[in-house]
Amino acid sequence: RGTGIAILGIYVADTAYLASRMPKIGETISGSGFSLGPGGKGSNQAVAAGRAGADVHFISKIGNDPFGKMALEIYEQTGVTAEIEVMDDMPSGAAFIFVNDETGDNAIIVYPGAAGTISIADVEKHRDVIEAANVFVTQLEQPAEAALKALQIARTAGVTTVFNPAPANPFDAACYGLTDYFVPNESEAAAIVGFEIETEQDARRAGEEFLKLGVKTALITLGEKGVYIHSPTLSRLIPAISNAPAIDTSGAGDAFIGGFATALSEGLEVEAAVQFGCATAGIAVTRRGTAPAMPTRDEIDALLRISEGRA
Ligand code: ATP
Repeated sequence: RGTGIAILGIYVADTAYLASRMPKIGETISGSGFSLGPGGKGSNQAVAAGRAGADVHFISKIGNDPFGKMALEIYEQTGVTAEIEVMDDMPSGAAFIFVNDETGDNAIIVYPGAAGTISIADVEKHRDVIEAANVFVTQLEQPAEAALKALQIARTAGVTTVFNPAPANPFDAACYGLTDYFVPNESEAAAIVGFEIETEQDARRAGEEFLKLGVKTALITLGEKGVYIHSPTLSRLIPAISNAPAIDTSGAGDAFIGGFATALSEGLEVEAAVQFGCATAGIAVTRRGTAPAMPTRDEIDALLRISEGRA
């Protein structure tokens, strides 16, 4: 059996512009702030796992440009092994994020750039990385056929699979049967089951649907409420954990997945691994940004000790 985590996904540079409103077509307005940072779900999950102390390998593609350089620097700083192809003829992915400086509401354009070209052949090139892991994680920001191929490789090699169906893009139904832990948020779960997830009962019903579709365990993230676990032997809510007010929940789902995968790869049972993921996300939401908000292992362990003391 392998060790560590392999993640397939995309990197984008998040460029966030603050202003009082969106400009109209043809108009230029003055902004009130700007920030630049590494983003992309797979990349954020890899950084979360790296900070949490995992041996994590991130499979992706970037451009030969300053945004791509920024990605490699953050992997270096956070102990993520970059299994990354640098393309000369495609730019790194980038996201335009408009943030309303009064309400915090946002509007986003994501262009995956080089990572949008991740093909089945690219996944095949990294077969050894997936097979050497004990946990594999992917999402739906890169082409969905690449996710399917990677899940097949992982399952055949006996690697535990975590599939985060985000964003809510279409994917091959064969993915369900290849998934050990299916991790949608409320809106992604609702898009699949066709009803809103508002209560614990809704989450349980959605979990039952996902099991019928073929996943082994569903973990539905419910924001500040926590995570609902549904499997044939377990159906319960694990409450969110926090020690300070949330100021920026962007990337909360990625923090949860990075933490959860870290704990799974260390051999923790599902409930304890979900708690570890909740502690990781519970700290990330108290800081601005996505990747830069991910906590260290010491911070996660300290929050878990406090929450166990309370329980
Ligand atoms: P995003 O799209 O913003 O990255 P998401 O919608 O994918 O997030 P959520 O379900 O909002 O994911 O959050 C994931 C996990 O993060 C939750 O299950 C919870 O453990 C934690 N979390 C989210 N919001 C809070 C909060 N306000 N306080 C504490 N923990 C939180």
